[in-house]
Amino acid sequence: MEDYDVIIVGGGPGGSTCATNLGKAGHRVLLLDKARFPRDKICGDGITGKSRGFIQKLGLLDEMEDNGAIYDGIEVIWPKGSKTLIKAGDGYYSYVCKRQIFDNILFQNAKKFSDVREGFSVTDVIKDNGKVVGVKATDLSDNSSHEFRAKVVVGADGANSIVATKLGLNKFDASHRISAIRAYYRNVKNVEKNLEIFFFEKTMPGYFWIFPLPDGQVNVGIGMTVKEMQKKKLSLQKIMEDEIANNPAIKERFAGAELVSDIKAWTLPTAEVFRKNYGDGFVLIGDASSLIDPMSGEGIGNAMLSANLAADVIGDALKKGDFSSGQMKNYYNLLWKKLRHEVKTNYMYQRLASSNTLLKVLEPRIAKSNHFIHSMKVNFLDSDSRWKPSIKDLFLFILSK
Ligand SMILES: Cc1cc2nc3c(=O)[nH]c(=O)nc-3n(C[C@H](O)[C@H](O)[C@H](O)COP(=O)(O)OP(=O)(O)OC[C@H]3O[C@@H](n4cnc5c(N)ncnc54)[C@H](O)[C@@H]3O)c2cc1C
Repeated sequence: MEDYDVIIVGGGPGGSTCATNLGKAGHRVLLLDKARFPRDKICGDGITGKSRGFIQKLGLLDEMEDNGAIYDGIEVIWPKGSKTLIKAGDGYYSYVCKRQIFDNILFQNAKKFSDVREGFSVTDVIKDNGKVVGVKATDLSDNSSHEFRAKVVVGADGANSIVATKLGLNKFDASHRISAIRAYYRNVKNVEKNLEIFFFEKTMPGYFWIFPLPDGQVNVGIGMTVKEMQKKKLSLQKIMEDEIANNPAIKERFAGAELVSDIKAWTLPTAEVFRKNYGDGFVLIGDASSLIDPMSGEGIGNAMLSANLAADVIGDALKKGDFSSGQMKNYYNLLWKKLRHEVKTNYMYQRLASSNTLLKVLEPRIAKSNHFIHSMKVNFLDSDSRWKPSIKDLFLFILSK
């Protein structure tokens, strides 16, 4: 049995950021991950503007310059083939970086400020009088069982969070899930410094992407909401292979390209305003708290945002000696104050995009609309959500020319 101030379960972008912040503040932190780093994470590898702001805060931008490919725009290709190119402007850019590399940068940095156990799979939480006071874990190297105690436990263990599950907070809802696949190719032609997003009628709401990586590789994938995927009984892999082979806007570029990875699938728990993520002695952050943007599928930024807010509230709790649900609720309040407009509006956009008829009628307008361009900038390029969209914005979005 070992005692800490804070145990963080999961060393992805959320867990590593939280461990770094708390460790830097002088608290005793244990970071547990079932994987050994560097490890892969199925992702589009788009380290968007929101994430960039938090990477800067961690002092790790130099590592990103050395390891990521720079993008400074987004190209949207509509179902009828028209294109909208949105450039960040003002010399602004962000990165595409394989998660095997990006997560390792954050994780190795977290190691400087916390105790780390890799290859430790958390199997349960330990409770005392209804309060979370630690975790049980298996050391995967020899299958031995271990218990660790702390004043606060942070669930940062991703989409299938064991911490959220054991605390009854991991509900599956097809309306708030995206399913997606990812592959790596090399020698795709005409790859520019843009994130490319293709909307296909059959996979709305969702998109096919081509994101540029260093060394001539690209990250290619497709994702859509589980609700619509189940309704239409679609296979994402079949669609992706079919589009790469036959779509006139894509096939020439893939002639001579080589698939250099398996095609892997994973699930994205998308954000739902005011979803509970705290209790006596614990908080959930990142995917464990279902914080992925419902429109863009971007989750690294919100994982790092929630990690920052959680670290602030836990730091305060440690100062006061108060680990009650009431104190942990401060994290929930701060998080939803920051994210609720963005999540609400982007969920509305996602629902709007599920209507193919509406999309067909509005495509020419939306493609040129300042509102759409602004919204894409905010979601993929900006360093922070300075934009506070509202329901009124949705109507402006539909009507704008
Ligand atoms: C196909 C796909 C494409 C995506 N594209 C993008 C994109 O381009 N940009 C973007 O911003 N987001 C993207 N996302 C979302 C993004 O991957 C996640 O939102 C992000 O990884 C969340 O970070 P996290 O730290 O919360 O969790 P994770 O990155 O999932 O980290 C969780 C960690 O917990 C560990 N863990 C899990 N269970 C246990 C356990 N029982 N015990 C100990 N450790 C455990 C895991 O090993 C892992 O290291 C994509 C997701 C998918 C599936």
